[in-house]
Amino acid sequence: MNAQRTLRRSISCAGIGLHSGNKVTLTLRPAPADFGIRFRRSDLGGLEVPATVKHVGGINYATGLARDAVKVDTVEHLLAALVSLGIDNVVVDLNSPEVPIMDGSSAPFIYLIQEAGVKQLGRPRKFLKVLRPISLSRGDKRMAIYPSDHFKVTYSISYDHPLLRHQARTLRITEESFVEEIAAARTFTFLNEVEMLRQQGLALGGSLENAVVIGETGVLNNGLRFDDEFVRHKILDAIGDMALVGHPIVGHLVAHRGGHGIHTEFAALVLEQTDAWTLVEGAPEPEIASAPVGETVRATN
Ligand SMILES: [Zn+2]
Repeated sequence: MNAQRTLRRSISCAGIGLHSGNKVTLTLRPAPADFGIRFRRSDLGGLEVPATVKHVGGINYATGLARDAVKVDTVEHLLAALVSLGIDNVVVDLNSPEVPIMDGSSAPFIYLIQEAGVKQLGRPRKFLKVLRPISLSRGDKRMAIYPSDHFKVTYSISYDHPLLRHQARTLRITEESFVEEIAAARTFTFLNEVEMLRQQGLALGGSLENAVVIGETGVLNNGLRFDDEFVRHKILDAIGDMALVGHPIVGHLVAHRGGHGIHTEFAALVLEQTDAWTLVEGAPEPEIASAPVGETVRATN
């Protein structure tokens, strides 16, 4: 059985909110099967908001959740780490409205989850298996998902900037590939955007410690972690935002020039199109790497 998972024990870290600049302590706590991922505000007496598209409450340069008086911002990098390590059930305790930005990537959260350890629960995991394509366009932005035997992401970005014209990447997402290829990719912004964000009261906690800043002639940081760190971070964001469907996905997600707005709108659209997918228990079928000549390969989606 491909069992649901939670953490073996609770674990905490402290940091600051990227947009608020506030100090925040985050604690991940084990949760029972079928609990899902829920954010809990310890500073509001433990009020909760589940990490589902139904509760998307803001998409202004980060993805936020809201239910009644409870708000939690910048959830996407943590969600990407949780779902990529197969953590289905967890309480995310915060004493402030924003998840700490840490270094702008998912790597510190991966470390935290690995330190806590993973525990299998006695119930099967349910995967959302895509049966037919779903797509969404908004201006020059596009999202689509196609049937596939496993979870795969293709992302392409293009900007009108001499240092960042076009990047694209396709990756099959597994625990290993996420940890090695995606988790460390940091969030990025353009220097001329920083001032605009600050005027809007955003990015108050932003610095070269937690974001790659692209200036006219180069990045202001001490280099990049990957040549194509930008598109890798967009894959990270898309995985975090699509986590809001509430199930691990078996399908090929394709995004062009996306952002949190279209990512979360697309996650909601996928959930609405109930005839386009089915929930299946157990592991996705293993990929047939190379079929022996003359043998019939059973056709799957
Ligand atoms: Zn991001």
